[in-house]
Amino acid sequence: MVKETGYYDLLGVKPGAPPDEIKRAFRRLALKYHPDKNPSEGERFKQISQAYEVLSDANKRELYDHGGEQAVKGGGAGGRGGFSSPMDIFNLFFGGGAQMHSHTERRGKTVVHQLPVTLEDLYNGATRKLSLQKNVICTKCCGLGTKDGTLGLCRKCQGTGVKVEVQMLGPGMIQQMQTICADCQGQGEWIGPRDRCRGCNGRKVTREKKILSVHIDKGMRDGQKITFHGEGDQVPGLDAGDIVIILDQKDHPVFRRQGHDLIIRMEIDLVDALCGCRQSIQTLDNRSLLVTSQQGEVIKPGDVKCIPNEGMPVYRDPFEKGRLIIQFQVKFPESGWLPTDRLRQLQGCFPAQVEFMTTEDMEEVKLTDFDPHTQQKQQYNGEVYHEDEHDYTRNRHQHQQVPCQTS
Ligand SMILES: [Zn+2]
Ligand SMILES: [Zn+2]
Repeated sequence: MVKETGYYDLLGVKPGAPPDEIKRAFRRLALKYHPDKNPSEGERFKQISQAYEVLSDANKRELYDHGGEQAVKGGGAGGRGGFSSPMDIFNLFFGGGAQMHSHTERRGKTVVHQLPVTLEDLYNGATRKLSLQKNVICTKCCGLGTKDGTLGLCRKCQGTGVKVEVQMLGPGMIQQMQTICADCQGQGEWIGPRDRCRGCNGRKVTREKKILSVHIDKGMRDGQKITFHGEGDQVPGLDAGDIVIILDQKDHPVFRRQGHDLIIRMEIDLVDALCGCRQSIQTLDNRSLLVTSQQGEVIKPGDVKCIPNEGMPVYRDPFEKGRLIIQFQVKFPESGWLPTDRLRQLQGCFPAQVEFMTTEDMEEVKLTDFDPHTQQKQQYNGEVYHEDEHDYTRNRHQHQQVPCQTS
């Protein structure tokens, strides 16, 4: 039992969700609420990142499950409290990694896009065209932003890009603070309205539409990243950032993927389960597989069989394939499906039934259909009324519970 579910709720997963599911949930939400896409949801983005920071770390998650948010913020077992910045979590997750920090100085930012794909795409491979908007250095001014190339200095900061503020803290005590100049955003430059380049209106970059061809290779998996180096936003004086495409596999109505294996549920009739069956499976590349069981081979409910080499292709080794795993379900006929006289014929096919001895002291009871919801309700009522109702009611409720306790 967990103490609080707040972090789980933020990611939309149940407590006890496996790490994989938490990762997937974070991926979806982080992209949805990223400030680039959803500037008004900054607080939400921060909360999602914090929840993921805790739930993705086994130690922190345990701390949270036992002591709630308070325990995590307090730092708990010797750890330091507080959270990383939401952007750091995001970059770490989407592959900025450790190198991100050294690169931020001279590279534009990485842009991440999610690309919905089908299981068929991942099986057969596919090419998708993706239309994006990106910043490109203005060709008219080569990224200078001015008509004639002369740059004016920002008057507020004299071109330094920073503003120095001196604060009196008390008698004889002053504090000097450096902040980025708000007038020029730390650029140190100021271009007068008349000097601005007409191509970009002084912004140095223009917005351009770019079509990317994304090649989905056979065997790629959900969540896999495809990186386009240097295809991100261009920024004057910096290397262009990357565009990272993340594959997001939609659920398939028939197949479920597990590593290289594909899993399918197959429902067969009781007669097929007992006497042998023939079924067809439509593969993800539209072939028909004929599945047969040997005559006399019995398939029981829940039996699992597999077909080698009919699973997913292995990434970068597509002639190698996983298994196609079949989980059998047996469809039994409804009650009363066979007239009594024919029932006796059927009985004749089975081994003789064991003779059952009834004795005097046996109480005959009746089987009824089981509904788990009514049981819960009765128990709940029983508990509530126990304390303040008289003996008669208490006995009655206890009586109703007897079948549940003994079953
Ligand atoms: Zn320009
Ligand atoms: Zn300035």
